[in-house]
Amino acid sequence: MLGESLDVPEASEYGFARKSGYPLAGERQAKAALAVFCSERIAEYDRTRNVPALDATSHVSPHLRAGTLGIRRCVWRAMEAREANRERPAGVDTWLSELIWRDFYDAILAHVPRVAVEPFLEKARRVPWRESEDDFRAWCEGRTGYPFVDAGMRQLEATGWMHNRLRMVVASFLTKDLLIDYRRGERYFERALADADLASNNGGWQWAASTGTDAAPYFRVFNPVTQSTTFDPTGAFIRRWVPELRSLDERSIHAPWRAAPLVLQSANVTLGQTYPFPIVEHGEARVRAIAAYKASFGDSVKT
Ligand SMILES: Cc1cc2nc3c(=O)[nH]c(=O)nc-3n(C[C@H](O)[C@H](O)[C@H](O)COP(=O)(O)OP(=O)(O)OC[C@H]3O[C@@H](n4cnc5c(N)ncnc54)[C@H](O)[C@@H]3O)c2cc1C
Repeated sequence: MLGESLDVPEASEYGFARKSGYPLAGERQAKAALAVFCSERIAEYDRTRNVPALDATSHVSPHLRAGTLGIRRCVWRAMEAREANRERPAGVDTWLSELIWRDFYDAILAHVPRVAVEPFLEKARRVPWRESEDDFRAWCEGRTGYPFVDAGMRQLEATGWMHNRLRMVVASFLTKDLLIDYRRGERYFERALADADLASNNGGWQWAASTGTDAAPYFRVFNPVTQSTTFDPTGAFIRRWVPELRSLDERSIHAPWRAAPLVLQSANVTLGQTYPFPIVEHGEARVRAIAAYKASFGDSVKT
């Protein structure tokens, strides 16, 4: 294979400045990431893929995007791993099914190119999006007051990559809790993600915004606190990316505004100063979002 004989230097070898934590470029890195994942993590992927505190996914997305890795190589390596894990292939099979999402969104973009600029669902064209620069900026900068959301946005800023669970959570937060047009979030991701890909990014955003092909129904609004307690139960992921909350206990870290004043004090957290109050109340924002979507979608619950 042509790729086998190429030995491409890493980006840093070209002298490019890069963010700390930004994925290393080049075919060598791509092969290494795939090999490590297939030998060490793929077998448990079905159980661990939704836990952002674990380094449980492959991180091959920037390489697939850049072309330093091909989808066929991913499938070959996965099939080898499947042989090695014959007794329990669920991890490998789940990973293969994720690769298929990428092809699915490529096919949507190829056959329905208008999704690049407008909702796939025509009935989603009239959602009355809010204009709020302050809210949008707080979301971009990881200052929404919802620790799980803020942790995801800060991971993106620092590393150029964000865990898939967080991509879903922050996208839901922007489009439902803040009722800001999914296209603004999509553009922001496009600039910040090392794996930014028109088809997958658009597909992910339209899914979260309930405007896409396979979209979540509009009345399903992720609760950012429940997502946090479910997928980051000990708060390890939040502690890594929102260090000002590091000393909070496992219960308070998901919703610091609900913590007793003494708990906040002993963790050196002063809401409104060291960490923001929530910029919206989730329960109220949910009702507002459902009403706004209903105005566009009518009473249809079918997506
Ligand atoms: C709002 C939103 C925006 C997204 N934007 C992008 C983007 O710009 N580029 C991008 O490559 N992925 C995008 N995704 C999909 C997914 O989050 C990433 O592919 C994944 O997190 C990359 O990490 P990984 O390589 O460790 O993934 P793994 O979990 O190891 O998955 C392996 C590969 O499968 C593919 N894949 C996995 N999940 C998805 C998915 N939901 N949709 C499409 N392909 C998937 C990717 O190619 C990924 O590299 C987005 C998802 C959402 C919800």
